[in-house]
Amino acid sequence: MVELWGRHRSERTAADSARAARADWPDRSPRVMVRAAMLVRFLGTGDAFGSAGRLNTCILVQATVGTFLIDCGASAMIALRRFGVEPNAVRTIFVSHLHGDHFGGLPFLVLDAQFYSKRTVPLTVAGPPGLGERLHAAMEVSFPGSSTVTRAFEVELMELEPRRPAEVNGIRVTPYEVVHACGAPPLALRFEIEDKVLAYTGDTEWTDALVDAGRGADLLIAEALTHARRIKYHLSYGDLRRRLPEIGAKRVVLTHMGPDMLARAAEVPEETAEDGMEIEV
Ligand SMILES: [Zn+2]
Ligand SMILES: [Zn+2]
Repeated sequence: MVELWGRHRSERTAADSARAARADWPDRSPRVMVRAAMLVRFLGTGDAFGSAGRLNTCILVQATVGTFLIDCGASAMIALRRFGVEPNAVRTIFVSHLHGDHFGGLPFLVLDAQFYSKRTVPLTVAGPPGLGERLHAAMEVSFPGSSTVTRAFEVELMELEPRRPAEVNGIRVTPYEVVHACGAPPLALRFEIEDKVLAYTGDTEWTDALVDAGRGADLLIAEALTHARRIKYHLSYGDLRRRLPEIGAKRVVLTHMGPDMLARAAEVPEETAEDGMEIEV
């Protein structure tokens, strides 16, 4: 389903296009991008409650096909500013599920685009069924009247259907429904970019859908809220670790860690994310 918000200003000036093209290109050494299909920058790696002072989930991917975010948690604008990311460079945002620590930054990002960043290039937000309704509600509860104003850029909403591959602004993504109560189907996301696969569990307790989502991925970004303790709707490191051989990912990075997992992060053999960490894939 595609839904359009705001008025589309069809003429994009040459200066806009040039700016967008420059902004879309990673602000890293071009030499790096010749070898890597994408640069993954962890802008927010925290749980919902700011454990260890970490920001909510927000992952920036800079690829030759475009620059996109995976999740846009409530603190996303702080994360973008802290790590010097130009908001207008983000063409697409993929949302795993409709919890505030994963999508609650969208109202701020849309309003920043309108008032501070003066965005003119379209913004696509792709996420679970129910995204349009929930984003509308989030906009209205945060900034009344903000969902209906006319803007100089288009916000295109795409609701993804589980297990149906989609092409969003040149990025191939396949969503898998996982197990996490959030009022709408929660998704794990599998991205295929050039010859690389990036998979992200979102928030979920163990489900075999994670094997499909992450199978053989070059990089699997996995929730590990707790170390061994099982919590409904969330993944413990222990449960994940037991099943990693089935997934067969080449590289695993743990994120969304709560207090007890953070306390034991140094003990585990897998990599653990932190705000500001960068990985080439
Ligand atoms: Zn979360
Ligand atoms: Zn959640």
